[in-house]
Amino acid sequence: MFSAKTKHGTHLTLYPFHDSGVIAPPPYYCSTCGEEVVLKKGKIRRWHFAHRHSSLCRGAPESEEHLEGKAVLLDWLENLGAVPRLEVFLPSLGRRADVLFTWRRETYALEYQCSSITPEEALQRTHDYLSCGITPIWIYSSGLLRSTSVQTYSIHTFEWTGLRADSSGCGTAITYFSPEKHRFYFLYPRASLSSQVTFGDLYTVELSEMSPAGLVHLPPVIPGEKTWMRMWLRTKKQWRYSRSRWQLHSDTRYVRVLFAQRRSDIPYFPSEAGWPVDGMTCFNTLPHHWQSMVLLSFLDPLPVNTSFSLQTAVETFRPAAEDILRLKPFPLVPNSIEHALEQYFVLLEKTGIIQKSGDGWKKERDVYLPGSIDEGYKMDQYYFARLFTTSLK
Ligand SMILES: [Zn+2]
Repeated sequence: MFSAKTKHGTHLTLYPFHDSGVIAPPPYYCSTCGEEVVLKKGKIRRWHFAHRHSSLCRGAPESEEHLEGKAVLLDWLENLGAVPRLEVFLPSLGRRADVLFTWRRETYALEYQCSSITPEEALQRTHDYLSCGITPIWIYSSGLLRSTSVQTYSIHTFEWTGLRADSSGCGTAITYFSPEKHRFYFLYPRASLSSQVTFGDLYTVELSEMSPAGLVHLPPVIPGEKTWMRMWLRTKKQWRYSRSRWQLHSDTRYVRVLFAQRRSDIPYFPSEAGWPVDGMTCFNTLPHHWQSMVLLSFLDPLPVNTSFSLQTAVETFRPAAEDILRLKPFPLVPNSIEHALEQYFVLLEKTGIIQKSGDGWKKERDVYLPGSIDEGYKMDQYYFARLFTTSLK
């Protein structure tokens, strides 16, 4: 860290970083935990204060990348007139924000996170900031980005906490940064096949081209080509033909009961279920499971020609979803379930099972469960060609 207190309680900050000049004599103390800290006067590394190795203080020890990231981001914000403050200790939270800044009357805390933390810790920090009117902006080290193939990412659970919505509320992204390359990376998740595999678009923005508004509201982007869509039909085939040997989750058991009530089983899921829709990454539950749940527990009981609003659907679906489905908490994205559900109804419109009606939709026909797995897969191929092949061109 770049700040500490003297024994008289005077606050010290090693800034500007290149000229650490005259500062008060030791001892120095951590403003978070009160432990004595040591001033490290590096020749190559920036001068900083460090806890002893045995310290239990939050955030200790600090990596070089973490120090560097904070310094680079602080300089960047300062040059753009955002008046950032470094390592601000917030007594009511008992924690120190890496960089705090105010932009258009909103206060933001930059959390530059380089190491893995538990999802609980990430959520706690987020809620703490929100509880005192500060919007956290999680910026993860670009070293945490894990791409397994083109447009395919494996995202740690704690990284999802940092997902933020753009100003239109439509796009959401996770932010990464490399202090070495002076570069931001924005990962826009587009769809997920499971909690481990996420398809998305990665955008790179040079620090020199970035504005605070771009960071706060996310830069405007054009969605990429959906190359991953080619895998979708193959995956649907697997969902139908291969028997899962995984231990059953409670959501799977619940969906299975819905099918059993209709003398059927999950591999015979309706072909209108199991498709990619925007916002679906809030579910860890498999797409054909939660979408079958919408079809069977909400749409199926409605008589044909009944109209419904998104709000009705949300009110019916949400309690069950929160109770049964595996959801990712997105503390910085409002209404994530509503958004995913709305996008799913937009897709269902294209299948003809519902039709737009006023502000909501009208049920056009009953939900059909394929009589055989082959029939189900044939229908999948039909819908794939009808709904998605244009997006591949
Ligand atoms: Zn400390």
